[in-house]
Amino acid sequence: MRIVLVGPPGAGKGTQAAFVAKSLSIQHISTGDLFRSNISQRTELGKLAKSYMDAGNLVPNEVTIAMAKERMEQPDAENGFLLDGFPRNVSQAEAFDELLENESMQLDVVLALEVPEDEVVKRIAGRRVCRNESAHVFHATYEPLAQDGVCGVCGGELYQRDDDSEETVRKRLEVYHTQTEPIIDYYKVQGLVVTISAVGKVEDITTCVMEALKCEDDK
Ligand code: ADP
Repeated sequence: MRIVLVGPPGAGKGTQAAFVAKSLSIQHISTGDLFRSNISQRTELGKLAKSYMDAGNLVPNEVTIAMAKERMEQPDAENGFLLDGFPRNVSQAEAFDELLENESMQLDVVLALEVPEDEVVKRIAGRRVCRNESAHVFHATYEPLAQDGVCGVCGGELYQRDDDSEETVRKRLEVYHTQTEPIIDYYKVQGLVVTISAVGKVEDITTCVMEALKCEDDK
């Protein structure tokens, strides 16, 4: 199956994506994680991406599309993938369509996660991420597993992302509304969008996501 997950920053895309990809045995491809891994490995791409990310802007299409394309073409993505954070604007969606067509592949569904804006800001302010490769995500206040700055799953150090400051979050939300939301209409035209409310317990949202995917699979 090939799935695109769209939603504002803080919608819980990463959490849902990891679960869904594991359940369906497909690759979870997160462009944000790919950029962060380039940053921690101090690659040229990482250096370039960091300045855009820290300002809450999108990394230019040219490099983002090339990076996403290369990742999707790896043999481990042959069985399918769930894209988290890509495409993020209409040009990227068009480039992705071209790639699908060239490879004679089809996109099955676009899951659009919806969360009110004040909830997003609250979530992101408390978001802490594990430094280890697993990159577990926690909420500093709501989750007992995130106590004392230590990851409750693997014991790694928890940190706050550089782009999770309140000012940058507001910029990222603005970018989401102006540049990313239009891709939902783009995919509505193709009849691919399923909208899911991403407010409430993580498990309940996961259930809705899995049910939506099952319906798509039965089609
Ligand atoms: P979130 O969805 O929580 O904002 P991500 O980890 O998906 O976080 O992305 C973090 C940052 O990485 C974005 O604000 C942007 O700067 C960059 N980025 C990720 N994916 C893309 C993309 N497809 N195009 C351009 N920039 C991207």
